Amino acid sequence: MTISRRQFLKGGAMATGGARMALSGAAGVGAGAMLRPHAARAEAAHGFALGETKVTVLTDGGLTLPASTLAANVPEAERTAFLTAHGQDPVTRASALNITLLQRGDALILVDTGAGMNFFEDAGLLADSFDSAGIDREAVTHVLLTHAHPDHVWGIIDDFDESERFSNAEYIMGAAEWDFWMNPDFLTSTPEEIHAFGLGAQRNLGAVAEKVTRVGADHAVVPGVTMIATPGHTPGHMSVLVEDGGAQLLVTGDALTHPTISFERPDWQPSTDQIPEQAAKTRRALLDRAATDGLMLVGYHLPWPGVGRVEVKDRTWRYVAA
Ligand SMILES: [Zn+2]
Repeated sequence: MTISRRQFLKGGAMATGGARMALSGAAGVGAGAMLRPHAARAEAAHGFALGETKVTVLTDGGLTLPASTLAANVPEAERTAFLTAHGQDPVTRASALNITLLQRGDALILVDTGAGMNFFEDAGLLADSFDSAGIDREAVTHVLLTHAHPDHVWGIIDDFDESERFSNAEYIMGAAEWDFWMNPDFLTSTPEEIHAFGLGAQRNLGAVAEKVTRVGADHAVVPGVTMIATPGHTPGHMSVLVEDGGAQLLVTGDALTHPTISFERPDWQPSTDQIPEQAAKTRRALLDRAATDGLMLVGYHLPWPGVGRVEVKDRTWRYVAA
């Protein structure tokens, strides 16, 4: 029996611990949660059309966090009652990792790169999903980064041979996001619990530094594909608005992360949001826009494949999967 590259990497990561263990502490996750196998493995790819744009959602696997990370500012009993009433697990939060690929004319645009091999046992499947879908990673022309958390940028480099996974692509991300994570004084100016995230961001972004264009709000990548500022989850978080044939699609990144709480309780503060009040304000603005303008969404962490719409419900909103 031959050992696959992936098994080899996993073995190495397990044996040495290293970044994984540091991160488990940072994220408040025990080793048991990290090693729990992801339930129901998603199909590798889900495709649909938006006008002339071909949209493919690729899975990078999934990750599991305690449900307590969903709402740091809400009493446990209230959170548990809400999740139970919605038929959701009140103890464990399983998140998908849905990565959007846009084919539009000559451009093949990837939004985020997944978690790579060193973050979560059940994540880091993006390269396999490209293979399963028969899409060549070398054909990617642009990689847009919503933000620099591990599950979005640790897939920039292949840890097996340190090569770039998307070697022909240019990278585009928010200038504010780059400045936060790449600050030479990062370790002395930020809380210790995000240091492992920062070191991973610096390692991955640093490897492609000369290919990264840092942009402000409303940056047009190609006509009809625009990066919009959606700060709060991280300081320079951006989402991607795609417009084609009279339809609009918003690739949310982590501005909306949970299928009930993010939509129906937008003021509840996930512990993964770095600037909680700004994140809540951004969520409300996006939800209002999505419901009013009839936007289609792809949510990075929403249940696979994370494609849906927003409806107004009572005085808040509701996620409707497509
Ligand atoms: Zn994320």
